[in-house]
Amino acid sequence: MAFLTDYHCHTNISRDSTAPYYDMVMAEYDAGVRQLCITDHCDTVDWHTLAFYPPCRDVARQELEAYEKYRPLLPADLELRMGMELAELIFHPELTEELSGYPWLDFILGSYHITKEYGDYHEQDYTDPAFCRELLDIYLRDVQQVADLNYFDVMAHIGYIRRYASYQGVDTGLTLAEHGDRIEHLLKTLIRNGKGIEINCSGLRDGCGPFPSEEILRLYRSLGGEIVTIGSDAHRPAVAAKCLDQGQEILKACGFRYITVFTKRKPSFIPI
Ligand SMILES: [Zn+2]
Ligand SMILES: [Zn+2]
Repeated sequence: MAFLTDYHCHTNISRDSTAPYYDMVMAEYDAGVRQLCITDHCDTVDWHTLAFYPPCRDVARQELEAYEKYRPLLPADLELRMGMELAELIFHPELTEELSGYPWLDFILGSYHITKEYGDYHEQDYTDPAFCRELLDIYLRDVQQVADLNYFDVMAHIGYIRRYASYQGVDTGLTLAEHGDRIEHLLKTLIRNGKGIEINCSGLRDGCGPFPSEEILRLYRSLGGEIVTIGSDAHRPAVAAKCLDQGQEILKACGFRYITVFTKRKPSFIPI
């Protein structure tokens, strides 16, 4: 069985998952994952009111408690890491130090799902081309702000709003042909700050392709980007580790020779 790593995986510590921690970890292990980082949502914003969401302050501690409870019950050859998907921090940059500073965390995904103007990307109408262009414009503006905030290790799922558009039969058009300058600026910012990107394989499950797309992965590589993690973004055991092997093959085809793993926020590299 190939050695797999999964650096994007949720349990019921995330408010959009009901998967018990032990069940989720064992499903990943049974699917061949031998290094797993749990990255539960640390949401700083209420999804509907966009107000501050106080439970975010408890996530890192819940992660530590689950790790300490279940680690002794798990297979010895599973390397387990404690991570977090720290979301929407551009709404509350004053919390950067508090929420990203827990010393036991191995890894932080920096993520972004909600516009200040219109709310969550998954609730938008992508069928109006002008509005779709505006959403992309906001998306690129805000992920650049995330990159500039510098609180995380790897930027999560670049371009993932393509999924919601595709559900409505629309292609968002986040392409280098149309947005190459801004995407290049984003990737250069990440590289300069010592941050990485992930290949998020969740889109491979439903035919949307990886997030980011292959052409963006290739651009990141050609700009000298080396830090890349691989993640299934599974929220339930039935899809644990799905398409990670395909994601690895895509990375190889895009010129990557290593995938990145983290211990206490320090990257190291595994040949693929
Ligand atoms: Zn996310
Ligand atoms: Zn996620």
